[in-house]
Amino acid sequence: MTPAQISRTPGQHGHSAELRLAAQRIGSGVGRRRFLTVTGAAAALAFAVGLPGAGTAAAAELDTRKITEDPFTLGVASGDPLPSSVLLWTRLAPRPYEADGGLPARRVEVRWEIAGDERFRRIVRRGSATAHPEFGHSVHVDVDGLDSDRNFYYRFRAGSWTSPTGRTRTAPARNARNSSLSLAAVSCQAYHDGYFTAYQHLADEDVDVVFHLGDYLYEYAVTATGGARGYTDRVLPDHFNRETLTLEDYRMRYGLYKSDPDLRAAHAAHPFVVTWDDHETENNYAGDTPENSVPPEEFLLRRAAAYRAYWENQPLRTPQRPTGPDMRLYRRLRFGRLAQFDILDTRQYRSNQAYGDGWKVPGPESEDPSRTMTGAAQERWLIDGWKASAARWNVVPQQVTFAQRRDVPGDAYKLSMDSWDGYPASRQRVMDGAEAAGIENLMVLTGDVHVGYGFDLKKDFDDPASRTVGTEVVATSIASGKDGSEKPANWDNLTRANPHMKFYNGRRGYALVTLGTQQARADFRTVPAVTTPGAPVATAASFVTEAGNPGLTPA
Ligand code: FE
Ligand code: CA
Repeated sequence: MTPAQISRTPGQHGHSAELRLAAQRIGSGVGRRRFLTVTGAAAALAFAVGLPGAGTAAAAELDTRKITEDPFTLGVASGDPLPSSVLLWTRLAPRPYEADGGLPARRVEVRWEIAGDERFRRIVRRGSATAHPEFGHSVHVDVDGLDSDRNFYYRFRAGSWTSPTGRTRTAPARNARNSSLSLAAVSCQAYHDGYFTAYQHLADEDVDVVFHLGDYLYEYAVTATGGARGYTDRVLPDHFNRETLTLEDYRMRYGLYKSDPDLRAAHAAHPFVVTWDDHETENNYAGDTPENSVPPEEFLLRRAAAYRAYWENQPLRTPQRPTGPDMRLYRRLRFGRLAQFDILDTRQYRSNQAYGDGWKVPGPESEDPSRTMTGAAQERWLIDGWKASAARWNVVPQQVTFAQRRDVPGDAYKLSMDSWDGYPASRQRVMDGAEAAGIENLMVLTGDVHVGYGFDLKKDFDDPASRTVGTEVVATSIASGKDGSEKPANWDNLTRANPHMKFYNGRRGYALVTLGTQQARADFRTVPAVTTPGAPVATAASFVTEAGNPGLTPA
């Protein structure tokens, strides 16, 4: 089956039992080779679980009196704030570790309300939405008619059950002369590498919005004791102890991650703007090319399952809902006249990594001008958006390191072929586009590398004397890489080899960025440990960059 055929397969119903059988066969612990042999069946069935038909009830309605256990185990979330609207999310799952979440294949009516106060005395909107089994009983409510630049509180009800309360915030009006915006940047939360302690602290921070820059989950096996978490008080089901391949695998993995109390606290405290990297699907995939030697048409089945589960489990609007293996995740958000955010997807459309991926000496293969990180359409969209931007700050939340990063000083250096360093022509087109659009205050927000970096973006990275054209704040991981260390082994080499690298720290945590009219500030927040719960948070370093005069200087 070709990708085009996959994406054109219409939604159908009534195959869920067959699909479950196929998914069980695919995901029965025999891994990738088994996946190959049942691909025909999977292709036929994987997309049979289509959309509920427009205006028709796909599944019979569940009598909510039959929900006898709390269905709100995965908490609540909100996302993608607009001046009059925000997306509210929950997913019903009385048993979050089970493939069906512990609910029958029936639709469930869920009521929601949003108020100006935490006690719901000033309700501003309420309504009801349907949790469809075809979407894993997720609920996506696009609430409109809200005042701009305001806090709101929201909750859901199903039967006699009430969800936790979430706090969200709308964006300022399009032409607002807003003077301050505070955000957090997070990435890389390998559950099996440690506790989400950083999220517990982030929940207490005073930020307007959180940007998640990818690796929200990892496809790798999670042992019964939760890997480095080393649980002694619970045993995780055996089905987590294998790599995710099928829609059910990915759904259950979100169930595991979302059941983490620190992650739920962060979602309940702040609206999130999410984008993915590789691990939500598979390590270091590029477009339709998987990590290993699986044919693209088979990998696209896995990608479709991963993208579908991603949409179901994130506070994303309908335009982001995938069709087969295609999902429009790149999008633009504006926060008054102060900031425009162009959220990128550098996985779905990229050329395959040069020289077989990894750290390699750059050359004609990586420098081929036809290679792209964004795809042509997204690149055009980004640059056109910059041309039309009147924002003080143009921020680009995205996945992989944008600045050049040599591994050692001298001429015998290697570069990461998975980062923008492996796509230098694509990076140059983006930087030329920013210059041509007259973008003065460019800030790139990055995840992926499990360390915190602060970079000056240089007009010519090979010439330290060249003009600084922007800054890059790389948020360290929430948990991936376990405890890490303040000064990783390659700290001296990297800082000497890259004079535009102003900060490097290998602890877990998150980055806070405060945008003002005169300057922006970045605070790198770190925790000393994640393999044991309860570590405190501290600021490892703070930097400012002046509006109109880019470059990080210690605050
Ligand atoms: Fe990661
Ligand atoms: Ca990654």
